[in-house]
Amino acid sequence: MPVIAPGPYTKTLVIGDRAKREAHKYFSEEFSGKKGLVVCDENTEFIARRDFPAFESLTFEKGAVATDTNGDAAALRLSKGGFGYAVACGSGSISDITRYAAAKAGIPFVSYPTAASMDGFVSSVAAMTIDGRKATLPSKAPVALFADPAVFSSAPRRLTLSGVGDILGKYISLFDWRTAHWLMDEKLDDDLINLINRAIDKMLALDPDSPGFAEAVMEGLVMTGMTIQYYGSSRPASGAEHHLSHLWEMHCMSEPTDALHGEKVGVSTLIVLDRYKAAPDEDLAAEYIKPEFTKENLFHIYGPLTDGIIGENTPDPLAALTREKIKAVQPEINRMVKELPDTEALRDYMKKIGAVTTLDEIGLPNTPRFKNLSMKYAPYVRRRITLLKILNIKD
Ligand SMILES: [Zn+2]
Repeated sequence: MPVIAPGPYTKTLVIGDRAKREAHKYFSEEFSGKKGLVVCDENTEFIARRDFPAFESLTFEKGAVATDTNGDAAALRLSKGGFGYAVACGSGSISDITRYAAAKAGIPFVSYPTAASMDGFVSSVAAMTIDGRKATLPSKAPVALFADPAVFSSAPRRLTLSGVGDILGKYISLFDWRTAHWLMDEKLDDDLINLINRAIDKMLALDPDSPGFAEAVMEGLVMTGMTIQYYGSSRPASGAEHHLSHLWEMHCMSEPTDALHGEKVGVSTLIVLDRYKAAPDEDLAAEYIKPEFTKENLFHIYGPLTDGIIGENTPDPLAALTREKIKAVQPEINRMVKELPDTEALRDYMKKIGAVTTLDEIGLPNTPRFKNLSMKYAPYVRRRITLLKILNIKD
């Protein structure tokens, strides 16, 4: 059993063989006399029926996207049906639909993940598509999570490999957090950094074909998701690698693809890692070009989203950064780069376990120009300081 301490929102966490039993016990203790609605899709409906036979369920079609329309439909069912709580029986989209709907209906929900595919199960923001545009909406974290290996280990392998990509991305997110600490005095939390590092190491130490592998991936995902709750922002779990994946998900420089979130994060991790490895050979202070958050500079990438991007970066998050500071910090950055995994070794690991590693495998143009444009403009999607944000990327 993993040691995952309760967070401010998710106070009960059970990952292991007794998860289903504990879930039923939790329902009768915490929601006594209340009716629960299980939210699922066509892929996970059999799990909902099998594990929660006495519950009413709401089934979305296969591949249902977390749109406000779907979220509103679930919220309406929850309020009209007099339900006291909801159970999200699925992975990413079902979690987001349920999170959004439960918040709207003003009731708690419980997470029952069916695949170890991403680290957002205990998240308190819902990634929704509204009028075709991605938006992250404040919503609700689950009050409890019950993850049963008998359920999520049977998910298609591709989903677990996506979860692996999301976990490997933490090499970059932790690196960027430390970089922001050195450059901009951002506060670090060593306990959270250790928690995440232990989760990565535990996963890597296991034979990917062993029965415990998916469980280690799920533990790692829930653990890193919880660090977001403890810390109060996604800083520990999201850096430049997620900025690339967010940029691609905005569809302003590429068409939508059916790649999974963690697959994109896995590929972007390799791209960013490769770039960071070159940093020690550069004079970062001399090369630094202060980013300009202007329409002229951003419109050709962000198009109609440009004003939002400028808003995100106002006031300038790098205003206080000087060349002298970068010069003083470079030895520290160089030291941290040495601690990052070798790019080829990580790529080989991902290939060996069957994870995707290239842009064309996730349906994006596999060209140096696309890669460079992604690295140059992705740092603008969030205010967050990363090493990528201060590197001189030539397009
Ligand atoms: Zn992620």
